[in-house]
Amino acid sequence: MNKESLSILGGGLIGSLWAIYLRKLGYPVQVFDKRPDTSQAKEIEGGRSINMALSFRGLKSLEKVGLKDKILPLAIPMYGREVHDEKGSTQFMPYGQANQAIYSISRGKFNLLLSEEASHLGATFHFRHKFKSIDFTSSQLTFETPTGLQKTEGGIVFGADGAYSALRLAMQKQARFNLTQEYISHGYKELSIPPLANGDFAMSPNALHIWPRGSFMLIALPNPDHSFTCTLFLPFEGEGQSFSQLHDEKSLLQFFQTYFKDALPLMPQLTLEFFTNPTSSLINISCYPWAKGKSLLLGDASHAMVPFYGQGMNSGFEDCFELHAAIEGAKPDQWELIFQEFQQTRKPNTDAMCTLAMENFVEMRNHVADPRFVLRKKIESLLHEAYPTRWVPLYTMVTFSDLPYQEAYRRGKLQEKVMDEVMADPLIAQNWKQLDLEGILTKLQQLDRSR
Ligand SMILES: Cc1cc2nc3c(=O)[nH]c(=O)nc-3n(C[C@H](O)[C@H](O)[C@H](O)COP(=O)(O)OP(=O)(O)OC[C@H]3O[C@@H](n4cnc5c(N)ncnc54)[C@H](O)[C@@H]3O)c2cc1C
Repeated sequence: MNKESLSILGGGLIGSLWAIYLRKLGYPVQVFDKRPDTSQAKEIEGGRSINMALSFRGLKSLEKVGLKDKILPLAIPMYGREVHDEKGSTQFMPYGQANQAIYSISRGKFNLLLSEEASHLGATFHFRHKFKSIDFTSSQLTFETPTGLQKTEGGIVFGADGAYSALRLAMQKQARFNLTQEYISHGYKELSIPPLANGDFAMSPNALHIWPRGSFMLIALPNPDHSFTCTLFLPFEGEGQSFSQLHDEKSLLQFFQTYFKDALPLMPQLTLEFFTNPTSSLINISCYPWAKGKSLLLGDASHAMVPFYGQGMNSGFEDCFELHAAIEGAKPDQWELIFQEFQQTRKPNTDAMCTLAMENFVEMRNHVADPRFVLRKKIESLLHEAYPTRWVPLYTMVTFSDLPYQEAYRRGKLQEKVMDEVMADPLIAQNWKQLDLEGILTKLQQLDRSR
């Protein structure tokens, strides 16, 4: 294959992994990022989650380049949700089967490891290079750097510059580029639960803790230093519970005392963190086409989603996996064809994932604490245990498999319909152990065929 020069805008999680993939294919790769070198920076760019959940699709994409075993020791397995009610009682709800876990990992360390790996393989990183503009005909790139504007030939250009992508903005100024974006009414703020005085975790470490409260929620993910990073999701404004109502220490403590009673004593820095940390917004972005000539958008730049399914990074990593497969299956230098094929097959899948992420927000804050929801999940587990390939819960398809998102969405909707019927039985709470499971599967099959 002719090794044309390639440029990646953005050395975040997706850009760094993509640099590794390209180096393994033998391409010369330059990565440009607006931030300073993270190996020297004490903190990552503020405002976004400090830790995140890595699951099957992400791990599969890391394994492809031999990194899964390097990454997993940095992560903490979470085998289920630990749901905290308003009285402080907890209930553990497994995510899948006994050995199935999602992994809590520090964004900063993970990003650093990926960019170091890419550098080690020969990718060149240019930090403090803020991408400003592109000439789509010549692929000339212009960057703002500490020494002024710099121009360079980009060759083939990948825009992995995140949800507020400057490459996407440049594409937007071209004809026939579609874009929709939606900020949701909720924002989020990061808080923390430090280790106990004896150094132990303050709560069980192998779970994603969640305090669902209808229109808002708090979650906590474990860190290797035995602390938890918490995220409070709350409407920005409004008469009910909202960030705008929490204007002083008194209102804040009262709010936590009412809704997160068991978490409050574990959060000695609450007031300081709440009034110091930013309140960040959440956006969903859909755009098309992702490709323009010799340039292509990847990761959040092409499909930023709200974080409620923990799939933003995982889906971006899967972009790398799929694009790599498209390159391997193509003739040398057919970049425009490769990009066309990639965007056509990938876009319906990421669209489905963006929709699921939005829907899961409602599930997480409203339903997980509802006994009927818990029962529904139990029945689905029964079905999955009895017929592991014929009934797979939606969460399992998304999180523990690489079934295309679009197909997971389709099957999930059919199963939801069948489960709605099962749950409509007024005596379901008493009868659920005697359910005709085979009959339920027949219904699912019939519904599937009728579509
Ligand atoms: C609260 C929250 C929790 C989340 N939790 C999860 C989770 O549990 N699991 C999961 O899979 N996903 C999660 N996500 C989503 C995940 O953070 C993103 O999908 C992921 O970071 C996308 O990676 P990226 O490399 O595409 O973009 P980014 O991580 O945004 O990286 C973009 C990079 O581009 C650089 N850049 C930006 N503009 C320019 C420019 N003009 N020039 C040069 N460089 C530029 C930036 O400095 C950055 O390094 C979460 C998101 C949020 C907000």
